[in-house]
Amino acid sequence: MRPFTYERAQDLAQAARAGRGTGQGQTDAPVQYLAGGATLVDLMKLDVLRPQRVVDITPLQQDHAAIEAGPAGLRMGALAKMSAAADHPAVQRDYPVIAQSLQLAASAQLRNMATLGGNLLQRTRCPYYRDPSWSACNKRAPGSGCSAIGGVNRTHAVLGVDDSCIAQYPGDFAVALAALGAELELMGPGGARTLPLEALHRPPGGTPQVETTLASGELITAIRTPAGPWTRRSLYLKVRDRASYEFALASAAVALDLDGDVVRQARIGLGGMAYRPWRAREAETLLAGKPLTEAAAEAAARAAFAGAVTHGGNDFKPELGRRTLVRALLQAAKLEA
Ligand SMILES: Cc1cc2nc3c(=O)[nH]c(=O)nc-3n(C[C@H](O)[C@H](O)[C@H](O)COP(=O)(O)OP(=O)(O)OC[C@H]3O[C@@H](n4cnc5c(N)ncnc54)[C@H](O)[C@@H]3O)c2cc1C
Repeated sequence: MRPFTYERAQDLAQAARAGRGTGQGQTDAPVQYLAGGATLVDLMKLDVLRPQRVVDITPLQQDHAAIEAGPAGLRMGALAKMSAAADHPAVQRDYPVIAQSLQLAASAQLRNMATLGGNLLQRTRCPYYRDPSWSACNKRAPGSGCSAIGGVNRTHAVLGVDDSCIAQYPGDFAVALAALGAELELMGPGGARTLPLEALHRPPGGTPQVETTLASGELITAIRTPAGPWTRRSLYLKVRDRASYEFALASAAVALDLDGDVVRQARIGLGGMAYRPWRAREAETLLAGKPLTEAAAEAAARAAFAGAVTHGGNDFKPELGRRTLVRALLQAAKLEA
């Protein structure tokens, strides 16, 4: 690990000022916030992230870790620990897809340490990104190429990819939030604003090193999920190489509003498949107004992966993704609302 200066944030405004230089998720950003450290310290040890200054935002936990559920929806402070949200009775009862996405992530120790905001901003698990001995990685070293295209790419993205980067977004929680149409509360040097979760991660678009739409110094302070008739009948299905302590090969977050067996509205997020948590709107549209039969679920899943592009090692992923989504839809349909 390289030398860096350490600063402890006093309050939100001071943290935002001290955070000028965090960039938009760029690997070479000279400043990084420290929340739980589960991504940051890991990548600093690997010599991938090399901040000159680390701003510790854990003192903000006092004011930005509350979890509140009410008629308008759920509001979770971004400094709340993953375990606090996963174990919260209102989250488990009214937003099971969120609770499950957190319970199935990482390990108990990591969930006790890591925060919700940091979880959203975790970096890809692409092995070429995480190992600087590989010179070609456009995300880490802009303009150097993509080693995963033509390399080992079993876990890589199949939706929304281009020739500059096929890295996958590995998180689970964000997939549940995408399905439920969550919004982020932000505070930065320019003041406060809200941002749809779906607009947080930028497509590679030739500049995959620019990962987010956050302004430099901007902090996520809270995550708001609107209430809706679909939140209770919801689940998160995660398929991975081993049953625990593993990232998703494929996952589906599904929330359903049903009238009998007819779909009033379906909300679908897909994980492990793209540079960001992926909302499958074509599939949602296909399901609306029809009985949720196996054939309807299969047609929706085909639509969700119609644009998939594979690179050899990950040729199996669209089929795995389709099967995961069909299973999730049929299981969710059996839940009580
Ligand atoms: C072995 C292992 C297994 C894992 N398995 C899973 C898994 O199965 N599923 C899953 O979803 N995740 C998994 N993770 C990822 C883990 O959940 C994340 O590393 C963790 O949630 C990051 O949160 P943190 O608070 O530690 O963030 P940090 O590491 O402190 O910060 C991460 C990044 O976010 C920025 N940041 C943090 N908080 C804020 C904020 N409020 N506003 C603005 N910027 C901020 C920091 O500057 C930094 O760049 C795993 C991690 C490990 C090490």
